[in-house]
Amino acid sequence: MTAERIYRGRLAPSPTGALHLGNARTFLIAWLRAREADGKLVLRMEDLDHPKVKPGAHVSAIEDLRWLGFDWDEGPDCGGTYAPYTQSERLPLYAAALRRLQEQGLVYPCVCTRADVEAGQSAPHTEEGLFYPGICRDRFANYEEARRELPHGRLPAWRYRVPDNAVVSFEDGFCGEFSQDVSQAVGDFVIARHPQGAGYMLAVVVDDAAMGITEVVRGDDLLSTTPRQLLLYRALGLTPPTFYHVPLVVSEDGHRLAKRHGDTRISAFREAGYTAQQVLGLLGWWCGWAAFGEEVSLRDLLPRFRRSSIPHCPAVLSRRVRDAFPKAIR
Ligand code: GLU
Repeated sequence: MTAERIYRGRLAPSPTGALHLGNARTFLIAWLRAREADGKLVLRMEDLDHPKVKPGAHVSAIEDLRWLGFDWDEGPDCGGTYAPYTQSERLPLYAAALRRLQEQGLVYPCVCTRADVEAGQSAPHTEEGLFYPGICRDRFANYEEARRELPHGRLPAWRYRVPDNAVVSFEDGFCGEFSQDVSQAVGDFVIARHPQGAGYMLAVVVDDAAMGITEVVRGDDLLSTTPRQLLLYRALGLTPPTFYHVPLVVSEDGHRLAKRHGDTRISAFREAGYTAQQVLGLLGWWCGWAAFGEEVSLRDLLPRFRRSSIPHCPAVLSRRVRDAFPKAIR
């Protein structure tokens, strides 16, 4: 008999801005999944997106999560078996993974700009964004040669060579069956814009595997990136986790939350004098586990967690919600 793997989940904030209602709702679901399964939860700082990483955002992300009452078993502030838990401290791991892909001839350097890629489109953009028509495939003998092609200060990206008919299917825990032919939907994709492979697409795979994550709970804006990540798991000989993609919070116009929709930062609620229980009440209401206006703690929500009550459509920052928090969301 094989022992059941213990559930290991993760919260993976990017310290590129403050934690807002949208991330917090996703983290609530991730936290409840892990605690309901009696599993472990890892906090991982995804700080590789350098120009966008804000100074101090590591600290405030932890502060905001703690204020809401979240806890985790391993993380940058408390350590753990798989330390370090901050991506900028894990660069050698990404470099090693990149080398493995290079040895198999699965990656190549690319000097294309967005405009080059746009010009190469033969069909309108797919939902996944731009399709890469393979302009730099087999163009350079090595990275150095590609770099010499670029003006000072610009670096080539690394692209993964997607085979034809790369249909990847998986069963998402929330969305159900998802299937994508990566060669048709996206083409050869960027795994990192960093010479040694430190970029989101590669790092997330390396880290989730290295940290023994068994289920990834995240926003469904990343659902369509999962087939690419599954190709990387396969190429690196790593065991993938299962996935659970949940809808985002959107504004009434159906767009993702942005500054123009008002201040939805968790810190704005705290500074305006609202309690964590009021904010959690809103997050729980959006998931169908609390009445509108109810004040709840994470512990109150734990027994109410039901996968089936989470709506399959996005949560909406409606007028009713704004009116309930007039001092924060302006
Ligand atoms: N760090 C990413 C974000 O905050 C999440 C990436 C992931 O969950 O795979 O959007």
